[in-house]
Amino acid sequence: MDFSGPAAGEKPHAVCLPFPAQGHITPMMKLAKVLHCKGFHVTFVSTEYNHRRLVRSRGARAAEGLPGFRFATIPDGLPSSDADATQDPAALSRSTMTACPAHFKSLLAGLGRSAAGVVPPVTCVVADSLMSFSVDAARELGVPCALFWTASACGFMGYRNFRPLIDHGIIPLKDEEQLTNGFMDMAVDWAPGMSKHMRLRDFPTFLRTTDRDDTLLTFQLHQVERAEDADAVIVNTMDELERPALDAMRAITPAVYTVGPLNSLADQIVPSRGSPLDAVSSGLWKEDRSCLQWLDGKKPGSVVYVSFGSVTVMSNRELVEFAWGLANSGHDFLWIVRPDIVRSEEAAVLPPEFLQATKDRGLLASWCDQEAVLRHDAVCVFLTHSGWNSTVEGLCGGVPMLCWPFFAEQQTNCRYKCVEWGVGMEIGDSVRREAVEGRIREAVGGEKGREMKKRAVEWSEAAVRSTARSLANLDALIHDVLLSGKNI
Ligand code: UDP
Repeated sequence: MDFSGPAAGEKPHAVCLPFPAQGHITPMMKLAKVLHCKGFHVTFVSTEYNHRRLVRSRGARAAEGLPGFRFATIPDGLPSSDADATQDPAALSRSTMTACPAHFKSLLAGLGRSAAGVVPPVTCVVADSLMSFSVDAARELGVPCALFWTASACGFMGYRNFRPLIDHGIIPLKDEEQLTNGFMDMAVDWAPGMSKHMRLRDFPTFLRTTDRDDTLLTFQLHQVERAEDADAVIVNTMDELERPALDAMRAITPAVYTVGPLNSLADQIVPSRGSPLDAVSSGLWKEDRSCLQWLDGKKPGSVVYVSFGSVTVMSNRELVEFAWGLANSGHDFLWIVRPDIVRSEEAAVLPPEFLQATKDRGLLASWCDQEAVLRHDAVCVFLTHSGWNSTVEGLCGGVPMLCWPFFAEQQTNCRYKCVEWGVGMEIGDSVRREAVEGRIREAVGGEKGREMKKRAVEWSEAAVRSTARSLANLDALIHDVLLSGKNI
């Protein structure tokens, strides 16, 4: 399609639309700031629910924006709520697919009308791949649309392989028993773009269903297949890390631009701490600033950092197993226990004996500046759910990882960390305190731990090397797609 691009002398205007979950909002905000620094007027679109959360967690100023960097909101289609909790992924997937397209189109139309003098006309859309309806909205407006896949390339190919897995009659599952009778351990060494070490259980969890029409299975398959219709697909990864999956993506999607690690890229372009742009925030939880001070008082390489991201929930039994595993490991730890970490029908209760036993060497907090924590030299091991942002941040920090994947493509990331990248060990689906303790001891002081540390440091060096290429890819994305090659 031939787009006209911004008129001479006018700023290009990018509308950035994240999927409304923290793990998607954070990288989109980084990309939006990068584009702003590259001369774009940015409209950052939040859902009304998340915008209210942002104001509560970071204050009105964080959500005010700046000249040339504005926030806009659309409804998410879910019943109104003022909870400070992650929304249910299936409900959110359904509602974003059905309610958001019309709201987004009318927002774009409104931005067009308000253009005179104050806001330049919209010249491109950068949307999360899970909001792929944006491709149609951008087409209607006559501007290019880049989709941002905020997860791993191996995760993308994991979802793309749902189609051949369906065609082979492997999924949907025949019955619930297949979840526990060894069927999930089946080797799948033929999947295009994937590691030869994949088992069925390592594919994104949404295939663990007997229902071909399952919401998350159909939602994710639809989104990765629609990527073909975009003008570009942006991925927060490094070619060195994920070459086979990226090659497979490049064979099926139009133009793939790797910009990872996005945190390193943003560090090169976005003014550092204290700048007005730095004050623009996307954090939905209040950060506990004492975590970094606490780490400052610890010896290098002595602290286990534990966080399960923004969506993972667990039972209180699992929480207690993790607690005793940490306590019995004998190591210092910083543990992020989100207020909504335990499934809503239960209360999160940590045994007083655990709190007493670890009071001098454990810090519990509800949210922290994780990127800074993972760069801190006191941290030796990261116990993680293996979300993609956390994985990239761990690799950048050169930190070995113990993996307890919860859902989606976290299982795939975990497999790659353990068998392809050499930086991870699995905790096992059903958490037992002995396994947690044993894995921590091995990762901190064992032979396997030393090997993982070596590989993690190598990946952190690869991350530094990749930044130059990602900067070049970013420029190519801007000039070849977002500006459509005209006028600027
Ligand atoms: N995060 C954070 N503070 C915390 C825990 C997590 O800033 O205490 C951030 C983390 O740095 C990452 C994001 O939350 O950027 C989590 O994204 P990820 O893809 O790892 O997992 P998700 O939350 O989507 O499951």
